[in-house]
Amino acid sequence: NARSASGGSYKVFSQALDRGMRRRLELEIHLLRALEREEFFLNFQPVIELDTGRIVELEALLRWEHAQHGLISPAEFIPIAEETGLIIPIGRWTLREAARLMREWLSRFPHLPPELKLSVNLSPRQLRYSGLVQEIAATLDEVGLSPSRLKIEITESLLVDSDEAVLCRLQDLRAHGIELALDDFGTGYSSLGYLSGLPVDCLKIDRTFVERLGQDQAQAAIIQTIVSVARALGLNVVGEGIETEMQLVHLRALGCTRGQGYYIARPLSADGVATLFQRGLTLLLPAQKLPGSPP
Ligand code: C2E
Ligand code: MG
Ligand code: MG
Ligand code: MG
Repeated sequence: NARSASGGSYKVFSQALDRGMRRRLELEIHLLRALEREEFFLNFQPVIELDTGRIVELEALLRWEHAQHGLISPAEFIPIAEETGLIIPIGRWTLREAARLMREWLSRFPHLPPELKLSVNLSPRQLRYSGLVQEIAATLDEVGLSPSRLKIEITESLLVDSDEAVLCRLQDLRAHGIELALDDFGTGYSSLGYLSGLPVDCLKIDRTFVERLGQDQAQAAIIQTIVSVARALGLNVVGEGIETEMQLVHLRALGCTRGQGYYIARPLSADGVATLFQRGLTLLLPAQKLPGSPP
């Protein structure tokens, strides 16, 4: 049978599995302690208006610097935090820290545009927590950041199988003046019709669609569809994961008004953001990349 015929690779496979499980268990144990050990910090990635290069948002991205394993990707530890429920205290820390820094930048740099927002990712488990809205409102109040400066990103898949309570919570966030964005849009299988009934303000086109722009006609068609639906519903659209000038040019031509990606700016440390603002930079594209700018 297949197992005895490939006994060698089965063994390697099972060892790899063990290693994977051991690491996971280890991370889970360390995650319990990470908050009190102050191992978390935030990066911020700008979102710009593609026409002008103006920074309209800073997305807070959580980082975990583990004593032995070094920097661990959120793609690895967020799911563990979700499953264990640790995402509640970790998310609480993230929102407070992000809001605190945003408040600080707004006070230090009065030239920052009034429309600049802070964007924070929330995971499904946080949306199922009944105290969420109360807690966010209280944190913003304590920190002194207006709710209108905050935007919350949730994944599309959350909405596809969400219950009434989650929808109410989203409505409640919006009633407080907080904006809502659907992250990784296009991967969660929600019908576009379904969107019209949802309490959201913005769609973030998943980077898998942006990745193959220019090589694959289908991607352009999908993006065009998302953009026209967003327009019809009065939503903002952000193209995620822009890595090349070509992708940026294509996105703009398809009517996508906002963008984010390594080509525009990598996620920055808090100090990096302060340096940027200190230099008076609220635009991020070199002038020659802007349409209609003088040669
Ligand atoms: P996301 O919210 O979709 O964030 C965008 C991710 O794409 C970030 O990865 C960012 O560094 C990366 N990215 C940005 N531009 C480019 C690009 O041009 N090319 C490529 N290849 N990647 C790009 P990161 O920081 O590793 O975060 C991964 C995911 O982890 C996030 O995806 C988000 O879902 C989750 N996450 C991050 N921070 C938090 C948090 O505070 N709370 C929760 N619940 N989830 C978070
Ligand atoms: Mg996001
Ligand atoms: Mg995203
Ligand atoms: Mg994404």
